[in-house]
Amino acid sequence: MARVFINYRRQDSEGYVGRMYDHLLKTFEANDIFMDVQNIEPGADFVEVLENAVANCAVFLCVIGNHWLSAKNKDDERRIDAWNDFVRIEIESAIKQSKVVVPILVGGAKIPAPDNLPESIKPLARRNAVSISHQNFADDMERISAVIKRYAPANESFKPDSSPEVSQQKSEALKLLRDDVVGASESPLYQYRTENRYFPVLGAGNPDANIIFMGEAPGKNEGERGMPFIGASGDLLDEMLDELGINRDDVYITNLVLDVLPENRAPRINEVEFYRPYADRVLDIIRPAVIVTLGRFATEYVLKKLDLPEKRQKISQLHGKLIKANMPYGDIHIVPMYHPAYALYYPKKKPMLMQDFEKLRLFI
Ligand code: URA
Repeated sequence: MARVFINYRRQDSEGYVGRMYDHLLKTFEANDIFMDVQNIEPGADFVEVLENAVANCAVFLCVIGNHWLSAKNKDDERRIDAWNDFVRIEIESAIKQSKVVVPILVGGAKIPAPDNLPESIKPLARRNAVSISHQNFADDMERISAVIKRYAPANESFKPDSSPEVSQQKSEALKLLRDDVVGASESPLYQYRTENRYFPVLGAGNPDANIIFMGEAPGKNEGERGMPFIGASGDLLDEMLDELGINRDDVYITNLVLDVLPENRAPRINEVEFYRPYADRVLDIIRPAVIVTLGRFATEYVLKKLDLPEKRQKISQLHGKLIKANMPYGDIHIVPMYHPAYALYYPKKKPMLMQDFEKLRLFI
């Protein structure tokens, strides 16, 4: 379901709307934004089609430029008054359905006076408007994104049970789980761990976090200190978290495989099999609303665990998507991303990784 409906008049504000759409895509999914009613089937009642399209959104952005009211049709009639004006019909429908309607004034346009508006959309004049200009575009759009997030959060199931007691319980459960991993002598990586005096790395951060990041496996640096993501990949992860204003202590960071892999190689099937139940337990304890999977292995693990249709897709198809899923404790989102090591290996991919990270703004 698209959360945002952009209503606009082509001749009036198409340039602004194109730019708005591109900007919103930094934070929202393409299927979260509805712009143009297309393919109205022959025989369909177009008013009904428009009403249904509006019914699906949570926030209705009504973009008003300098020609919005005065634009005329071939009969020299104001379009806004024409019986078949899609723009007016959509606004009527949003008002009738009590949607959050936000007038967006572009190019210095002013909100029209009620007397100049058709009767059915006069209430539009009373809605608090946001102005956007090309000069302050990014800041203006941030305000609009904030409004959208407020009225249409991506995730409705945030932490119903959060409290200091719950946090404490989770922290204790994680300690017990860590003890189990420390003693897991049947692990295919146990011998390598003990011979090299590495620590297993369960994870770090807020045990009651909304967002969990799951990487592949700790590296040598991580194994030496028992902390996840503290080497080069961790530096890049920190840089991206900083960019979003996320503190490591607000999220939980873990890995699918909880022990260092020899030569930093990819995990083997038996290793993933061994650590899968531990990763399950981490998720069961933390109950995150958002699981960010860093790289192919964590992504495959989560999608298979939840038996999602996306489980057959590759990380190249999935990265940056917001995948809705259901855990026994509520609705969650999975956000697959490339592993930071990928961007270290291919520096040209770093902007793409950052772009994917931007999606997390929805949840903070
Ligand atoms: N790579 C990972 O996947 N995890 C770490 O903790 C460090 C590097």
